[in-house]
Amino acid sequence: MVFLIIFILLFLLFFLPIKGSFKLSSETPGKRINERNVMFSRLEIAKRPELQKQYYKDFPEHKDLDEVWHQKPGLSSKGSQFYAPLSFKASDVSFHTIEFLRPIVNGPVEPIPEDISAEKLTTFVLKWGKKLGAVSIGICDLKDYHLYTERGRGEAYGKKVENNHRYGIAFTVEMDEEYLSTGPAGPTLMESAYQYLNSGVISIQIAEFLRRMGFESRAHIDGDYELIAPLVARDAGLGELGRMGLLMTPELGPRVRIGVITTNAPLTITERKPDYTVHQFCNWCKKCAVVCPSQAISKNPIETMDGAERWKINHEKCFGYWCTTGTDCGRCMSVCPYAHKNNWLHNFVRWGIKNNIFFRYVAVHLDDVFYGKKPKPKEVPDWLKG
Ligand code: SF4
Ligand code: SF4
Repeated sequence: MVFLIIFILLFLLFFLPIKGSFKLSSETPGKRINERNVMFSRLEIAKRPELQKQYYKDFPEHKDLDEVWHQKPGLSSKGSQFYAPLSFKASDVSFHTIEFLRPIVNGPVEPIPEDISAEKLTTFVLKWGKKLGAVSIGICDLKDYHLYTERGRGEAYGKKVENNHRYGIAFTVEMDEEYLSTGPAGPTLMESAYQYLNSGVISIQIAEFLRRMGFESRAHIDGDYELIAPLVARDAGLGELGRMGLLMTPELGPRVRIGVITTNAPLTITERKPDYTVHQFCNWCKKCAVVCPSQAISKNPIETMDGAERWKINHEKCFGYWCTTGTDCGRCMSVCPYAHKNNWLHNFVRWGIKNNIFFRYVAVHLDDVFYGKKPKPKEVPDWLKG
């Protein structure tokens, strides 16, 4: 009888919907980001000396930091620590293929728009996006803070971002857990590149479809973004921004790539339901910060920066590490308790974390028990070696 009472009490304690009261007070960034300050743009100017003088005149605080990682072998390079021809060349061809997509992110719009209701078009885009391979897809109002101030890549370098579209459509595609778990070895780069391509193809198709329906639309793909994709995805209801600064989705945690389309098509926004349980879990967890080889992730509680509560990532340290390994590492993503495989057991744990504060607290520690406090990367499969 005593055991039965204890069992019932424990069941109630861990399974009743007791979410806790943790909340963020502010989530809207107070200032927009200049894409010229993003690490990939700072890498680009290393190869375009004509841009360097102006950049370091505008942002002299980055000069010394950049000179350190400019000396390293570089992302996807032969002299890097994890260079392996099979996975590196395979990722190169995905990035190479993306180059063919960039000229078609935008295009002519059918002059007479189809007569279609926002409800019908929204349903079609959401369902078709999933058919094309999206795990999740949503729509938000496009806000100023989603947009870069200035472009920092390719031919658009230095141009002011002027995007007057009303909506952002964001979606996620899955990154394969098997590949990612080998990070920072080559297969993680191979998977990133492939999913950038995959999400790029889906974005291009949706944007082109909407233009053929008669509505201005633009795809935002790798190397050609006018906006900060994780912010659009968050506001479209696809997840929250966690300790590592990435989108944490309910289905796969951070193990996703994001695609975005902006448009003036008549659409209905998908309502965001903020889930602050993610931030509370991250406050307790810190696993990504513990495993990060470059110590780029903060171990501090969430703090307010530029008007929004978030964690600060040291991008120079992270990117500098990538330039040594030659890959985009992904250790943080692969060890995250939210990123475990999408099966009934992990989905049950994700449900418990979201719905009950006691379950959430215990889950942080149980993850250490089952997966280790500092999980090691997995072996690269034989067929991917070499
Ligand atoms: S590893 Fe832990 S702290 Fe880092 S993002 Fe995932 S849940 Fe949050
Ligand atoms: S990708 Fe690697 S180096 Fe960068 S933050 Fe994640 S774990 Fe750290």
